[in-house]
Amino acid sequence: MNLSRRTFFKTCGAAGAATLAARPADAAPSATPGAEMSAVLVDTTRCIGCRACEAACGEVNHLPAPDLAGEAQVFEKRRTTAPAVYTVVNRREVAGGERFVKTQCMHCVEPACASACPARAIEKTAAGPIIYHVNRCLGCRYCMLACPFDIPRFEYESAAPYIRKCTFCADRQAEGLEPACTSVCPTGALTFGKRAALIEEARERIYHNPGEYERHVYGEREVGGTSWMYISDRPLAQLGLPSHLGTTPHTALAQGALSVVPLIITLWPPLLMGIYTFSKRREALAHEHAESIRGSHEEDRHA
Ligand code: SF4
Ligand code: SF4
Ligand code: SF4
Repeated sequence: MNLSRRTFFKTCGAAGAATLAARPADAAPSATPGAEMSAVLVDTTRCIGCRACEAACGEVNHLPAPDLAGEAQVFEKRRTTAPAVYTVVNRREVAGGERFVKTQCMHCVEPACASACPARAIEKTAAGPIIYHVNRCLGCRYCMLACPFDIPRFEYESAAPYIRKCTFCADRQAEGLEPACTSVCPTGALTFGKRAALIEEARERIYHNPGEYERHVYGEREVGGTSWMYISDRPLAQLGLPSHLGTTPHTALAQGALSVVPLIITLWPPLLMGIYTFSKRREALAHEHAESIRGSHEEDRHA
């Protein structure tokens, strides 16, 4: 189905407006959405671009080592996350110098990806992380279209493709540990904690250091709030954080797009059939792949 991000959001805009117009007046969000959820405060004034966070992420998630580890030339090109790269640190040229900015899933308080997913393969947990259920995924990629931060990645090159993104180290958090990336940051650029407490911390840094920070906690309100939040001494748009997203959760937009757009309703049955076929084919390929690996191991053993 050829549905571009631009078309999707245009459609979402119309559908979402209708959805929002129907909202009761008392549906205003609480003062701090997701106050008790886990979160991270990224202080870009403290990031030195060492990329220890990238390495730690790769290690705990069994991903390949980061590209050009330890080499400054990695910053010559703007990098994005990828199926095997859950987080990247980029250098941004700003007036009077440079800044380094870590990117990963923002773990929105009300995630559009989860709303758009027809299979409930993406779930926002009460603790904070947005987790992904591999066994439920249909491969439709609506989550990719819905994400305002362009984060979920699809394994196009794989025989058995799935969606991949930062997990917020949900498993580590369940064991009482902080995410791998925040645990290794040597400069305090990444602070892990509860969302409400980190917003307070961010405000204190801003107000106790006049002139050293922009008066904006990015992610406090954007798209209804995110678990990863940023502060900076430069306008956050200059650091590559999207400034046009508004403060309304994009969940309403994603749901609206799926429920009221006639085109999608018309295409839904054949689409589901296509997805089902794709999903079955993917399972068969994965099975064949596993069998062939097992076969070669057997041959090696008997050689
Ligand atoms: S690709 Fe998978 S996770 Fe993404 S929306 Fe479709 S079913 Fe949900
Ligand atoms: S929270 Fe975990 S998965 Fe996400 S970027 Fe950090 S180390 Fe990687
Ligand atoms: S580990 Fe900390 S200082 Fe190093 S690149 Fe990552 S966020 Fe920046």
